[in-house]
Amino acid sequence: EFRPSADATLRQRAARVVPGAMWGHMNAARLPAAYPQYFRRAKGSRLWDVEGREYIDYMCSWGPMLLGYNDPDVNAAADEQRALGDIFNGPTERMVELAEEIVGTVVHADWAMFQKNGTDATTICAMTAREATGKRKLLVATGAYHGAVPWCNPYPNGATAEDRVHLIRYDYNDIASLERAAAEAGDDLAGIFVSAFKHDLGKTHVLPTQAFAKAARAICDRTGAALIVDDVRASLRLHMGGSWELVGVKPDLAAWSKSIANGYALAAVTGNDKFRDAATRIFVTGSFWYGAMSMAAGLATWRKMKAIDGIGIMQRMGQRLRDGIDAQAKAHGVKLQQSGPVQMPVILFDNDDNREKGWFFCTEALKRGVYLHATHTMFLSAAHTADDIDRTLEATDAALAEVARRFG
Ligand code: PMP
Repeated sequence: EFRPSADATLRQRAARVVPGAMWGHMNAARLPAAYPQYFRRAKGSRLWDVEGREYIDYMCSWGPMLLGYNDPDVNAAADEQRALGDIFNGPTERMVELAEEIVGTVVHADWAMFQKNGTDATTICAMTAREATGKRKLLVATGAYHGAVPWCNPYPNGATAEDRVHLIRYDYNDIASLERAAAEAGDDLAGIFVSAFKHDLGKTHVLPTQAFAKAARAICDRTGAALIVDDVRASLRLHMGGSWELVGVKPDLAAWSKSIANGYALAAVTGNDKFRDAATRIFVTGSFWYGAMSMAAGLATWRKMKAIDGIGIMQRMGQRLRDGIDAQAKAHGVKLQQSGPVQMPVILFDNDDNREKGWFFCTEALKRGVYLHATHTMFLSAAHTADDIDRTLEATDAALAEVARRFG
């Protein structure tokens, strides 16, 4: 008797009641057929799909899972708050405590505000920059992602040309192109958006050069525009004090989300005193932005990350994975490039423009219980252990052998 899989059945049911069965970046229709769409539970570094198959996960729910799925300390803090209530007619003490924690940790920050999604935070940064300067133009890097609302959505569908008329593109780490874009903005420059590092989809990941970071800072100092670091993807994985501490440059504003409450829905904007009045004047809000559970979870996440040196753990585990895969690729005669910080890697195969090799490799790893992505930034967590990495390397060794067999 033929029994369709639970995943296939759910996809069919969804197709009737959800447009296209699924929307957005988690649409498994964009992935090879072997990838599941539906999941049931997760713990630590492990994820189980709706069929009950177990994976060591290197997407970490696309970033939010930082200390591990279902972290007991973060859950305890959220549960304690849940007993009191989550949503009221205003915030709780947790909001002030979390703002104090963040302002005490993030080097450029004199203040913090909270939202739910990364796009909320990047949009508030744009509004604050425009309100503070009275100017309109925003410089954004070619290929950079800052969210999915009309002003920054990478796809044109559903937006108007007018929505992006005040965006000017530059190339990340290219000082001349940044200067050109600033010159094009003339005396109408409100802000420069920079990603924490260059982490464009399907591209080699590159840290900012110090010269580029300093040039961006200098343009903003010269013109009064806001330097805005979009730290949404890198939040708390590179540096607790803000990712551009790595290059010693302080932004005026930064957008945070994904990992800052270990999977509870929370985003933040941090800023310096120069932009405090403008942040006071803009009207921004949302029904769920003041929820106390995610703030309690956020507080527990920041404190635990410091207590266990979570970034150090991710770096050691990420290095173990990178070294292992490099050695295996050499042994199998497969040419690939691993880039990005080791705790936020991307693996790109040589001569693989359509990413056929990359997805073949990922599918072979998936069959062996390891969930990877061929084009997007992947994520280590502080819950990944040496044993997880070694088991992962068994899967990647076999997967690379298959790549060598298939592609030579
Ligand atoms: N900026 C960056 C760098 C991101 O990676 C993302 C999410 N992938 C966003 C902004 C938007 O965040 P969200 O999807 O939570 O709105």
